[in-house]
Amino acid sequence: MTAGNIEIDTLVVGAGQAGVAMSEHLSTLGIPHLVLERSRIAEAWRSGRWDSLVANGPAWHDRFPGLEFAGLSPDGFAHKEQVADYFEAYARKFKAPIRTGVEVRKVEHNVGRPGFTVETSQGVIQANRVVVATGPFQKPVIPAIAPQDERLTQIHSAQYRNPQQLAEGAVLVVGAGSSGTQIADELLRAGKQVYLSVGQHDRPPRAYRNRDFCWWLGVLGEWDQAAMKPGREHVTIAVSGAHGGRTVDFRELAQRGMTLVGVTRSFSDGVATFQPDLAANLARGDENYLAVLDAADAYIERNGLNLPLEPEARRVFPDPECVSKPILELDLAEAGITTIIWATGFATDYSWMNVDAFDEKGKPRHQRGVSTESGIYFLGLPWQSRRGSSFIWGVWHDAKYVADHIATQRKYLEYRDAAERQAEQAASTAPASVVTA
Ligand SMILES: Cc1cc2nc3c(=O)[nH]c(=O)nc-3n(C[C@H](O)[C@H](O)[C@H](O)COP(=O)(O)OP(=O)(O)OC[C@H]3O[C@@H](n4cnc5c(N)ncnc54)[C@H](O)[C@@H]3O)c2cc1C
Repeated sequence: MTAGNIEIDTLVVGAGQAGVAMSEHLSTLGIPHLVLERSRIAEAWRSGRWDSLVANGPAWHDRFPGLEFAGLSPDGFAHKEQVADYFEAYARKFKAPIRTGVEVRKVEHNVGRPGFTVETSQGVIQANRVVVATGPFQKPVIPAIAPQDERLTQIHSAQYRNPQQLAEGAVLVVGAGSSGTQIADELLRAGKQVYLSVGQHDRPPRAYRNRDFCWWLGVLGEWDQAAMKPGREHVTIAVSGAHGGRTVDFRELAQRGMTLVGVTRSFSDGVATFQPDLAANLARGDENYLAVLDAADAYIERNGLNLPLEPEARRVFPDPECVSKPILELDLAEAGITTIIWATGFATDYSWMNVDAFDEKGKPRHQRGVSTESGIYFLGLPWQSRRGSSFIWGVWHDAKYVADHIATQRKYLEYRDAAERQAEQAASTAPASVVTA
Protein backbone atom coordinates (compact mmCIF):
# COMPACT_ATOMS: atom_id res chain seq x y z
CA MET A 1 0.00 0.00 0.00
CA THR A 2 1.30 3.43 -0.81
CA ALA A 3 0.47 6.65 0.89
CA GLY A 4 -2.41 8.55 -0.63
CA ASN A 5 -6.15 8.25 -0.59
CA ILE A 6 -7.63 4.80 -1.04
CA GLU A 7 -11.38 4.27 -0.91
CA ILE A 8 -12.85 0.99 0.18
CA ASP A 9 -16.29 -0.20 1.18
CA THR A 10 -15.28 -2.16 4.28
CA LEU A 11 -11.98 -2.01 6.11
CA VAL A 12 -11.11 -4.82 8.50
CA VAL A 13 -8.46 -4.04 11.12
CA GLY A 14 -6.44 -7.08 12.19
CA ALA A 15 -5.73 -10.39 10.46
CA GLY A 16 -5.92 -12.86 13.28
CA GLN A 17 -8.54 -15.55 13.05
CA ALA A 18 -11.28 -12.91 13.38
CA GLY A 19 -9.99 -10.83 10.45
CA VAL A 20 -9.55 -13.91 8.27
CA ALA A 21 -13.08 -15.15 9.06
CA MET A 22 -14.48 -11.69 8.38
CA SER A 23 -12.72 -11.53 5.03
CA GLU A 24 -14.09 -14.93 4.02
CA HIS A 25 -17.70 -13.93 4.67
CA LEU A 26 -17.31 -10.53 3.02
CA SER A 27 -15.78 -12.26 -0.02
CA THR A 28 -18.66 -14.74 -0.20
CA LEU A 29 -21.13 -11.84 -0.21
CA GLY A 30 -19.10 -9.95 -2.82
CA ILE A 31 -18.45 -6.99 -0.54
CA PRO A 32 -15.31 -5.06 -1.53
CA HIS A 33 -12.98 -4.94 1.44
CA LEU A 34 -9.41 -4.74 2.63
CA VAL A 35 -7.82 -6.25 5.72
CA LEU A 36 -4.93 -4.37 7.34
CA GLU A 37 -2.62 -6.21 9.71
CA ARG A 38 0.20 -4.40 11.48
CA SER A 39 2.30 -7.51 11.72
CA ARG A 40 1.75 -10.94 10.14
CA ILE A 41 -1.37 -13.07 9.71
CA ALA A 42 -2.22 -14.71 13.06
CA GLU A 43 0.72 -12.96 14.72
CA ALA A 44 -0.64 -13.55 18.21
CA TRP A 45 -0.29 -17.30 17.66
CA ARG A 46 3.22 -16.91 16.23
CA SER A 47 4.92 -14.61 18.69
CA GLY A 48 2.45 -13.69 21.41
CA ARG A 49 2.46 -17.01 23.23
CA TRP A 50 4.85 -19.40 24.90
CA ASP A 51 6.94 -21.85 22.86
CA SER A 52 5.22 -25.10 23.76
CA LEU A 53 1.61 -23.88 23.56
CA VAL A 54 -0.85 -26.13 21.80
CA ALA A 55 -4.52 -25.35 21.17
CA ASN A 56 -6.83 -25.98 24.09
CA GLY A 57 -9.32 -27.71 21.85
CA PRO A 58 -8.80 -30.69 19.52
CA ALA A 59 -8.15 -30.13 15.82
CA TRP A 60 -11.63 -31.32 14.77
CA HIS A 61 -13.16 -28.58 16.92
CA ASP A 62 -10.77 -25.62 17.02
CA ARG A 63 -10.91 -24.80 13.32
CA PHE A 64 -13.08 -23.10 10.71
CA PRO A 65 -15.66 -25.19 8.84
CA GLY A 66 -13.93 -24.84 5.45
CA LEU A 67 -10.56 -26.45 6.17
CA GLU A 68 -9.09 -29.24 8.28
CA PHE A 69 -5.64 -29.15 9.87
CA ALA A 70 -3.17 -30.77 7.51
CA GLY A 71 -1.13 -33.64 8.93
CA LEU A 72 -2.85 -33.70 12.31
CA SER A 73 -5.24 -36.25 13.74
CA PRO A 74 -8.69 -34.72 14.34
CA ASP A 75 -8.23 -35.56 18.03
CA GLY A 76 -4.76 -33.99 18.20
CA PHE A 77 -3.97 -30.55 19.58
CA ALA A 78 -2.37 -28.19 17.09
CA HIS A 79 0.88 -26.52 18.12
CA LYS A 80 0.64 -22.71 18.03
CA GLU A 81 2.76 -22.56 14.83
CA GLN A 82 0.39 -25.04 13.18
CA VAL A 83 -2.52 -22.81 14.18
CA ALA A 84 -0.83 -19.77 12.62
CA ASP A 85 0.05 -21.78 9.47
CA TYR A 86 -3.58 -22.90 9.33
CA PHE A 87 -4.89 -19.34 9.23
CA GLU A 88 -2.33 -18.35 6.63
CA ALA A 89 -3.38 -21.30 4.47
CA TYR A 90 -7.01 -20.43 5.05
CA ALA A 91 -6.49 -16.84 3.91
CA ARG A 92 -4.65 -18.08 0.80
CA LYS A 93 -7.51 -20.47 0.01
CA PHE A 94 -9.89 -17.64 -0.85
CA LYS A 95 -7.24 -15.04 -1.73
CA ALA A 96 -8.10 -12.81 1.21
CA PRO A 97 -7.17 -9.18 0.42
CA ILE A 98 -4.85 -8.82 3.42
CA ARG A 99 -2.04 -6.28 3.60
CA THR A 100 0.44 -7.05 6.32
CA GLY A 101 2.81 -4.63 7.99
CA VAL A 102 0.26 -1.80 7.99
CA GLU A 103 -0.90 -0.38 11.30
CA VAL A 104 -4.18 1.45 11.68
CA ARG A 105 -3.49 4.49 13.86
CA LYS A 106 -6.74 6.43 13.84
CA VAL A 107 -10.35 5.93 12.84
CA GLU A 108 -12.60 8.96 12.79
CA HIS A 109 -16.14 9.58 11.56
CA ASN A 110 -16.25 12.00 8.66
CA VAL A 111 -17.91 15.33 9.38
CA GLY A 112 -21.11 15.99 7.45
CA ARG A 113 -20.75 12.95 5.21
CA PRO A 114 -20.88 9.21 5.70
CA GLY A 115 -17.92 6.96 6.30
CA PHE A 116 -14.66 7.09 8.15
CA THR A 117 -11.22 8.55 7.64
CA VAL A 118 -8.64 5.98 8.61
CA GLU A 119 -5.04 6.95 9.21
CA THR A 120 -2.56 4.14 8.78
CA SER A 121 1.20 3.78 8.93
CA GLN A 122 1.13 3.91 5.12
CA GLY A 123 -1.41 6.53 4.24
CA VAL A 124 -5.04 7.53 4.61
CA ILE A 125 -8.04 5.42 3.68
CA GLN A 126 -11.68 6.36 3.26
CA ALA A 127 -13.92 3.50 4.36
CA ASN A 128 -17.70 3.26 4.49
CA ARG A 129 -17.39 0.74 7.30
CA VAL A 130 -14.73 -0.47 9.70
CA VAL A 131 -14.64 -3.89 11.35
CA VAL A 132 -12.39 -3.92 14.41
CA ALA A 133 -10.87 -7.39 14.66
CA THR A 134 -7.92 -6.48 16.85
CA GLY A 135 -8.36 -9.33 19.30
CA PRO A 136 -9.89 -10.04 22.69
CA PHE A 137 -6.51 -10.03 24.42
CA GLN A 138 -4.53 -6.93 23.51
CA LYS A 139 -2.82 -5.44 26.56
CA PRO A 140 -1.40 -7.69 29.29
CA VAL A 141 -2.79 -6.71 32.68
CA ILE A 142 -0.66 -6.86 35.83
CA PRO A 143 -2.64 -5.85 38.92
CA ALA A 144 -1.63 -2.89 41.02
CA ILE A 145 -0.62 -5.14 43.95
CA ALA A 146 2.54 -6.19 42.05
CA PRO A 147 5.46 -5.39 44.36
CA GLN A 148 8.15 -2.82 43.54
CA ASP A 149 11.04 -5.12 44.34
CA GLU A 150 14.15 -5.24 42.17
CA ARG A 151 15.14 -8.62 43.62
CA LEU A 152 12.22 -10.13 41.72
CA THR A 153 11.75 -10.61 38.00
CA GLN A 154 8.12 -10.08 37.10
CA ILE A 155 6.61 -10.93 33.74
CA HIS A 156 3.12 -11.34 32.34
CA SER A 157 2.11 -14.71 30.89
CA ALA A 158 2.20 -13.00 27.46
CA GLN A 159 5.99 -12.56 27.93
CA TYR A 160 6.64 -16.11 29.14
CA ARG A 161 8.34 -18.31 26.56
CA ASN A 162 9.98 -21.30 28.30
CA PRO A 163 11.51 -22.38 31.64
CA GLN A 164 15.08 -21.62 30.46
CA GLN A 165 14.16 -17.96 30.15
CA LEU A 166 13.73 -17.67 33.93
CA ALA A 167 16.37 -17.00 36.57
CA GLU A 168 17.35 -19.73 39.02
CA GLY A 169 14.95 -20.07 41.91
CA ALA A 170 11.32 -20.73 42.68
CA VAL A 171 8.43 -19.14 40.78
CA LEU A 172 5.11 -17.75 41.92
CA VAL A 173 2.49 -18.00 39.19
CA VAL A 174 -0.49 -15.77 39.90
CA GLY A 175 -3.66 -16.88 38.17
CA ALA A 176 -4.83 -20.40 37.43
CA GLY A 177 -6.79 -20.11 34.22
CA SER A 178 -5.58 -22.06 31.21
CA SER A 179 -2.40 -19.97 30.79
CA GLY A 180 -1.32 -19.90 34.45
CA THR A 181 -2.02 -23.59 34.97
CA GLN A 182 -0.18 -24.68 31.84
CA ILE A 183 2.83 -22.46 32.56
CA ALA A 184 3.00 -23.64 36.19
CA ASP A 185 2.84 -27.26 35.05
CA GLU A 186 5.59 -26.71 32.49
CA LEU A 187 7.84 -25.09 35.12
CA LEU A 188 7.19 -27.94 37.55
CA ARG A 189 8.09 -30.50 34.90
CA ALA A 190 11.30 -28.53 34.25
CA GLY A 191 12.28 -29.05 37.89
CA LYS A 192 11.32 -25.62 39.23
CA GLN A 193 9.74 -25.13 42.61
CA VAL A 194 6.36 -23.63 41.80
CA TYR A 195 3.74 -21.77 43.81
CA LEU A 196 0.40 -21.36 42.04
CA SER A 197 -2.16 -18.83 43.20
CA VAL A 198 -5.60 -20.30 42.46
CA GLY A 199 -8.78 -18.23 42.26
CA GLN A 200 -12.28 -19.14 41.17
CA HIS A 201 -12.24 -21.38 38.15
CA ASP A 202 -14.10 -23.89 36.03
CA ARG A 203 -12.19 -27.03 35.19
CA PRO A 204 -14.16 -29.24 32.85
CA PRO A 205 -12.91 -32.78 32.31
CA ARG A 206 -10.56 -32.93 29.32
CA ALA A 207 -12.64 -35.84 28.08
CA TYR A 208 -15.39 -38.01 29.51
CA ARG A 209 -16.86 -41.22 28.19
CA ASN A 210 -14.88 -40.98 24.95
CA ARG A 211 -15.86 -37.40 24.15
CA ASP A 212 -13.70 -34.29 24.54
CA PHE A 213 -15.09 -31.51 26.72
CA CYS A 214 -15.46 -29.32 23.60
CA TRP A 215 -17.95 -31.88 22.35
CA TRP A 216 -19.77 -31.96 25.66
CA LEU A 217 -19.99 -28.18 25.92
CA GLY A 218 -21.29 -28.17 22.37
CA VAL A 219 -24.05 -30.77 22.70
CA LEU A 220 -25.03 -29.47 26.13
CA GLY A 221 -25.49 -25.98 24.68
CA GLU A 222 -22.82 -24.42 26.90
CA TRP A 223 -20.86 -22.76 24.07
CA ASP A 224 -24.10 -21.08 23.00
CA GLN A 225 -24.81 -19.44 26.36
CA ALA A 226 -25.69 -15.87 25.42
CA ALA A 227 -24.32 -14.16 28.51
CA MET A 228 -22.07 -14.84 31.44
CA LYS A 229 -23.99 -15.99 34.48
CA PRO A 230 -24.13 -13.14 37.04
CA GLY A 231 -21.27 -13.19 39.53
CA ARG A 232 -19.04 -15.31 37.25
CA GLU A 233 -17.10 -12.42 35.71
CA HIS A 234 -13.90 -13.46 37.49
CA VAL A 235 -14.20 -17.19 36.95
CA THR A 236 -11.49 -18.49 34.63
CA ILE A 237 -11.48 -21.78 32.78
CA ALA A 238 -8.58 -24.14 33.38
CA VAL A 239 -8.11 -26.53 30.46
CA SER A 240 -5.08 -27.82 28.63
CA GLY A 241 -4.26 -29.59 25.41
CA ALA A 242 -0.64 -30.11 26.49
CA HIS A 243 0.80 -33.64 26.66
CA GLY A 244 -2.02 -35.02 24.55
CA GLY A 245 -4.66 -33.21 26.60
CA ARG A 246 -5.27 -33.84 30.30
CA THR A 247 -7.83 -32.69 32.81
CA VAL A 248 -6.51 -29.90 35.00
CA ASP A 249 -6.58 -31.27 38.54
CA PHE A 250 -4.98 -28.96 41.09
CA ARG A 251 -4.68 -31.67 43.72
CA GLU A 252 -2.76 -33.81 41.25
CA LEU A 253 -0.43 -30.87 40.56
CA ALA A 254 0.12 -30.55 44.32
CA GLN A 255 0.81 -34.27 44.55
CA ARG A 256 3.57 -33.78 41.99
CA GLY A 257 5.13 -31.09 44.16
CA MET A 258 3.41 -27.80 43.29
CA THR A 259 2.42 -25.57 46.21
CA LEU A 260 -1.06 -24.14 45.84
CA VAL A 261 -2.11 -20.88 47.49
CA GLY A 262 -5.33 -18.89 47.42
CA VAL A 263 -5.93 -15.61 45.63
CA THR A 264 -2.93 -13.28 45.96
CA ARG A 265 -3.92 -10.40 48.19
CA SER A 266 -0.90 -8.16 48.73
CA PHE A 267 2.87 -7.75 48.93
CA SER A 268 4.67 -5.89 51.66
CA ASP A 269 8.35 -5.94 52.70
CA GLY A 270 9.04 -9.07 50.70
CA VAL A 271 6.05 -10.94 52.12
CA ALA A 272 3.13 -12.05 49.98
CA THR A 273 -0.28 -12.60 51.53
CA PHE A 274 -3.02 -14.83 50.16
CA GLN A 275 -6.77 -15.06 50.76
CA PRO A 276 -7.95 -18.03 52.82
CA ASP A 277 -10.05 -19.19 49.88
CA LEU A 278 -8.01 -22.00 48.34
CA ALA A 279 -10.18 -24.89 49.59
CA ALA A 280 -13.37 -23.04 48.60
CA ASN A 281 -12.00 -22.30 45.14
CA LEU A 282 -11.02 -25.95 44.63
CA ALA A 283 -14.44 -27.07 45.87
CA ARG A 284 -16.19 -24.81 43.36
CA GLY A 285 -13.91 -26.09 40.60
CA ASP A 286 -14.84 -29.65 41.63
CA GLU A 287 -18.52 -28.72 41.53
CA ASN A 288 -18.15 -27.45 38.01
CA TYR A 289 -16.22 -30.57 37.00
CA LEU A 290 -18.82 -32.92 38.50
CA ALA A 291 -21.69 -30.91 37.00
CA VAL A 292 -20.26 -31.55 33.53
CA LEU A 293 -20.02 -35.29 34.28
CA ASP A 294 -23.61 -35.33 35.59
CA ALA A 295 -24.94 -33.43 32.60
CA ALA A 296 -23.00 -35.72 30.24
CA ASP A 297 -24.40 -38.85 31.96
CA ALA A 298 -27.93 -37.46 31.74
CA TYR A 299 -27.45 -36.61 28.04
CA ILE A 300 -26.16 -40.12 27.30
CA GLU A 301 -29.03 -41.72 29.16
CA ARG A 302 -31.71 -39.54 27.58
CA ASN A 303 -30.41 -40.12 24.08
CA GLY A 304 -29.56 -43.78 24.57
CA LEU A 305 -25.94 -43.31 23.45
CA ASN A 306 -23.56 -46.20 23.60
CA LEU A 307 -20.58 -44.54 25.28
CA PRO A 308 -18.51 -46.48 27.82
CA LEU A 309 -18.92 -45.80 31.52
CA GLU A 310 -16.00 -44.01 33.21
CA PRO A 311 -16.46 -44.25 36.99
CA GLU A 312 -12.78 -43.41 37.66
CA ALA A 313 -13.48 -39.88 36.39
CA ARG A 314 -15.20 -39.25 39.73
CA ARG A 315 -12.14 -40.13 41.78
CA VAL A 316 -10.99 -37.17 43.88
CA PHE A 317 -7.38 -36.91 45.01
CA PRO A 318 -7.03 -36.29 48.76
CA ASP A 319 -6.44 -32.69 49.81
CA PRO A 320 -2.71 -31.98 49.93
CA GLU A 321 -1.24 -30.20 52.94
CA CYS A 322 -1.18 -26.85 51.14
CA VAL A 323 -4.97 -27.11 50.96
CA SER A 324 -5.70 -28.43 54.46
CA LYS A 325 -3.16 -26.05 56.05
CA PRO A 326 -3.21 -23.12 53.63
CA ILE A 327 -0.31 -20.72 53.39
CA LEU A 328 -1.63 -17.23 54.07
CA GLU A 329 1.72 -15.46 54.24
CA LEU A 330 4.90 -16.23 52.38
CA ASP A 331 8.30 -14.63 52.74
CA LEU A 332 9.38 -14.63 49.11
CA ALA A 333 13.13 -14.64 49.80
CA GLU A 334 12.81 -17.48 52.32
CA ALA A 335 10.77 -19.46 49.81
CA GLY A 336 13.50 -18.82 47.23
CA ILE A 337 11.08 -17.08 44.86
CA THR A 338 12.96 -15.06 42.25
CA THR A 339 10.23 -14.73 39.60
CA ILE A 340 6.57 -13.85 39.57
CA ILE A 341 4.53 -14.68 36.49
CA TRP A 342 1.29 -12.75 36.28
CA ALA A 343 -1.22 -14.90 34.40
CA THR A 344 -3.84 -12.30 35.14
CA GLY A 345 -5.43 -11.65 31.79
CA PHE A 346 -5.63 -8.89 29.25
CA ALA A 347 -7.42 -5.64 28.51
CA THR A 348 -8.33 -4.00 25.24
CA ASP A 349 -7.06 -0.73 23.77
CA TYR A 350 -9.28 1.29 21.48
CA SER A 351 -7.57 4.62 22.10
CA TRP A 352 -6.97 4.90 18.34
CA MET A 353 -10.70 4.93 17.60
CA ASN A 354 -12.43 8.29 17.73
CA VAL A 355 -16.00 7.09 17.24
CA ASP A 356 -19.16 6.90 19.31
CA ALA A 357 -19.06 3.16 19.97
CA PHE A 358 -17.81 2.92 23.55
CA ASP A 359 -19.32 3.16 27.00
CA GLU A 360 -17.92 5.27 29.82
CA LYS A 361 -15.45 2.49 30.70
CA GLY A 362 -14.15 2.38 27.13
CA LYS A 363 -15.85 -0.95 26.38
CA PRO A 364 -17.48 -1.48 22.98
CA ARG A 365 -21.21 -0.73 23.00
CA HIS A 366 -22.62 -3.23 20.58
CA GLN A 367 -25.10 -5.96 19.87
CA ARG A 368 -23.50 -9.08 18.41
CA GLY A 369 -20.67 -6.90 17.12
CA VAL A 370 -22.87 -4.24 15.54
CA SER A 371 -21.86 -1.10 17.40
CA THR A 372 -23.85 1.96 18.37
CA GLU A 373 -21.90 3.99 15.79
CA SER A 374 -23.40 3.11 12.43
CA GLY A 375 -20.68 1.56 10.26
CA ILE A 376 -18.43 0.43 13.11
CA TYR A 377 -18.34 -3.30 13.88
CA PHE A 378 -16.42 -5.44 16.35
CA LEU A 379 -15.39 -9.04 15.96
CA GLY A 380 -13.73 -11.52 18.28
CA LEU A 381 -14.89 -9.93 21.53
CA PRO A 382 -15.35 -12.24 24.50
CA TRP A 383 -19.06 -13.06 24.71
CA GLN A 384 -19.75 -11.09 21.53
CA SER A 385 -22.81 -13.22 20.87
CA ARG A 386 -22.17 -16.23 23.08
CA ARG A 387 -19.59 -18.00 25.18
CA GLY A 388 -17.76 -19.39 22.14
CA SER A 389 -17.31 -15.97 20.50
CA SER A 390 -13.62 -15.34 21.14
CA PHE A 391 -12.64 -18.90 20.27
CA ILE A 392 -11.66 -20.19 16.85
CA TRP A 393 -14.89 -21.90 15.90
CA GLY A 394 -17.10 -19.22 17.48
CA VAL A 395 -15.61 -16.21 15.73
CA TRP A 396 -16.35 -17.68 12.31
CA HIS A 397 -20.09 -17.71 13.07
CA ASP A 398 -20.03 -14.19 14.52
CA ALA A 399 -18.20 -13.00 11.40
CA LYS A 400 -21.02 -14.37 9.26
CA TYR A 401 -23.56 -12.40 11.28
CA VAL A 402 -21.54 -9.19 10.97
CA ALA A 403 -21.04 -9.70 7.21
CA ASP A 404 -24.78 -10.30 6.73
CA HIS A 405 -25.49 -7.10 8.64
CA ILE A 406 -23.11 -5.17 6.39
CA ALA A 407 -24.76 -6.64 3.28
CA THR A 408 -28.20 -5.59 4.56
CA GLN A 409 -27.00 -2.06 5.28
CA ARG A 410 -25.54 -1.80 1.80
CA LYS A 411 -28.94 -2.74 0.39
CA TYR A 412 -30.60 0.08 2.36
CA LEU A 413 -28.06 2.56 1.09
CA GLU A 414 -28.50 1.38 -2.50
CA TYR A 415 -32.19 2.28 -2.36
CA ARG A 416 -33.27 5.21 -4.57
CA ASP A 417 -36.73 6.78 -4.52
CA ALA A 418 -38.72 7.28 -7.75
CA ALA A 419 -37.38 10.77 -8.44
CA GLU A 420 -33.80 9.65 -7.88
CA ARG A 421 -34.29 6.61 -10.10
CA GLN A 422 -35.72 8.78 -12.85
CA ALA A 423 -32.87 11.25 -12.58
CA GLU A 424 -30.33 8.43 -12.71
CA GLN A 425 -32.03 6.90 -15.74
CA ALA A 426 -32.14 10.26 -17.52
CA ALA A 427 -28.47 10.82 -16.82
CA SER A 428 -27.54 7.39 -18.17
CA THR A 429 -29.56 7.76 -21.39
CA ALA A 430 -28.70 11.43 -22.12
CA PRO A 431 -26.51 11.86 -25.23
CA ALA A 432 -22.95 12.78 -24.45
CA SER A 433 -22.40 16.48 -24.95
CA VAL A 434 -20.26 17.36 -27.93
CA VAL A 435 -17.42 19.67 -27.28
CA THR A 436 -16.41 21.71 -30.29
CA ALA A 437 -13.24 23.61 -30.70
C1 LIG B 1 -2.64 -18.31 25.59
C2 LIG B 1 -3.89 -18.36 24.76
C3 LIG B 1 -4.30 -19.60 24.24
C4 LIG B 1 -5.46 -19.69 23.48
N1 LIG B 1 -5.84 -20.90 23.00
C5 LIG B 1 -6.97 -21.01 22.28
C6 LIG B 1 -7.37 -22.26 21.76
O1 LIG B 1 -6.72 -23.25 21.95
N2 LIG B 1 -8.51 -22.34 21.04
C7 LIG B 1 -9.27 -21.23 20.77
O2 LIG B 1 -10.30 -21.35 20.10
N3 LIG B 1 -8.91 -20.03 21.27
C8 LIG B 1 -7.79 -19.90 22.00
N4 LIG B 1 -7.42 -18.67 22.50
C9 LIG B 1 -8.35 -17.54 22.33
C10 LIG B 1 -8.35 -16.89 20.92
O3 LIG B 1 -8.60 -17.89 19.97
C11 LIG B 1 -7.06 -16.18 20.61
O4 LIG B 1 -6.84 -15.17 21.54
C12 LIG B 1 -7.01 -15.59 19.19
O5 LIG B 1 -5.70 -15.12 18.93
C13 LIG B 1 -7.98 -14.44 18.99
O6 LIG B 1 -8.04 -14.12 17.62
P1 LIG B 1 -8.40 -12.69 17.08
O7 LIG B 1 -8.25 -12.70 15.60
O8 LIG B 1 -9.70 -12.25 17.63
O9 LIG B 1 -7.29 -11.75 17.75
P2 LIG B 1 -5.71 -11.78 17.54
O10 LIG B 1 -5.22 -13.14 17.23
O11 LIG B 1 -5.12 -11.07 18.70
O12 LIG B 1 -5.53 -10.91 16.21
C14 LIG B 1 -5.68 -9.52 16.18
C15 LIG B 1 -4.73 -9.00 15.13
O13 LIG B 1 -4.93 -7.59 15.01
C16 LIG B 1 -3.69 -6.97 14.77
N5 LIG B 1 -3.84 -5.57 15.15
C17 LIG B 1 -4.13 -5.08 16.40
N6 LIG B 1 -4.20 -3.74 16.37
C18 LIG B 1 -3.99 -3.36 15.07
C19 LIG B 1 -3.97 -2.10 14.42
N7 LIG B 1 -4.20 -0.97 15.06
N8 LIG B 1 -3.69 -2.08 13.08
C20 LIG B 1 -3.49 -3.24 12.39
N9 LIG B 1 -3.50 -4.46 12.98
C21 LIG B 1 -3.76 -4.53 14.31
C22 LIG B 1 -2.71 -7.75 15.64
O14 LIG B 1 -1.39 -7.64 15.16
C23 LIG B 1 -3.26 -9.18 15.52
O15 LIG B 1 -2.62 -9.94 14.51
C24 LIG B 1 -6.25 -18.53 23.23
C25 LIG B 1 -5.84 -17.30 23.77
C26 LIG B 1 -4.66 -17.21 24.50
C27 LIG B 1 -4.24 -15.87 25.07
